[in-house]
Amino acid sequence: MTHVLEVSGLTTTFTKNEKAFKVVDDLSLYVRKGEALGIVGESGCGKSVASLSLMRLLGKNGKTEGSILLNGQKILSCSEHEMQNIRGKEMAMIFQEPMTSLNPVLTIGRQMSEGLEKHEGMKRAQSKEKVIELLTQVGIARANEIYHEYPHRLSGGMRQRVMIAMAIACNPKLLIADEPTTALDVTIQAQILQLIQNVRTERGTSLIMITHDLGVVAETCDRVMVMYAGQVIESADVRTLLRNPKHPYTIGLIQSTPHRSKGQKRLYSIAGSVPTPEEYPQGCRFAPRCDKAMPVCLEQNPQLLAVDQASDCRCWLYQEHTKGTAVNA
Ligand code: SF4
Ligand code: MG
Repeated sequence: MTHVLEVSGLTTTFTKNEKAFKVVDDLSLYVRKGEALGIVGESGCGKSVASLSLMRLLGKNGKTEGSILLNGQKILSCSEHEMQNIRGKEMAMIFQEPMTSLNPVLTIGRQMSEGLEKHEGMKRAQSKEKVIELLTQVGIARANEIYHEYPHRLSGGMRQRVMIAMAIACNPKLLIADEPTTALDVTIQAQILQLIQNVRTERGTSLIMITHDLGVVAETCDRVMVMYAGQVIESADVRTLLRNPKHPYTIGLIQSTPHRSKGQKRLYSIAGSVPTPEEYPQGCRFAPRCDKAMPVCLEQNPQLLAVDQASDCRCWLYQEHTKGTAVNA
């Protein structure tokens, strides 16, 4: 299968008080046509910065290096003008809080039409018809009325549907959804995830699903990468990762994910928090929270290596010759 997206060695650096911090550190990934890749981790692990880096939406603060190929096109060499055509038409993003990306002073109809008129060269009447068709496709009843509404008049779930309609308006090959359901209540969450799934299967769109919730990954993704402190620490197909997780952080994440079907008992939570880039330890970045840490873990950050045919993992436990005694146990 062809790769819609190929990223290698993506590093995004922010500078603070003349010091440079790698918020995304050497990220490599690919997404096949029609495939859904999950990127999962706690907040502050670099997932959102990674997605904004892919879209070149970081502004002047962050500096991104490495290589991003979208359908063979070198994204990091594109001018801002070229990027404006790529965003929306080639890849589009769905954010957690639609209010931050919807324009509060324009009606839904007007802001959706603008993109179509700009990217697809449509005239007003044609774009109106298309917008109403798109709104209907994302499950909005009375699309004719919603066309004339302002964003604040809609519920959170409706706004997210509008965002999805906007994102798919120009039929992008890749959708990047950053915590698209986090702000919604559980029933609406399920509906929005289902909608994203439908979009994928009907249009053959590839998806990157960014989330802190492994339940969301289980429901929507084919493969998953777990990020911790700016780096990928494990990657596998979803089934393998959930059934046979390797990295102690992944194991902790799974144990702290509520089982939707089993009701909510007391949940495990991983002690401590993700270090900020200023605090990255010298060795394994998870070592201060890891009950399997060994002396080598405190000295050297392990590489991301294939553990077997199904999983890549960044942990000394799987790098045979270095096995030793736990230090935090
Ligand atoms: Fe734990 Fe060491 Fe593996 Fe890091 S490398 S996750 S500290 S065992
Ligand atoms: Mg985020």
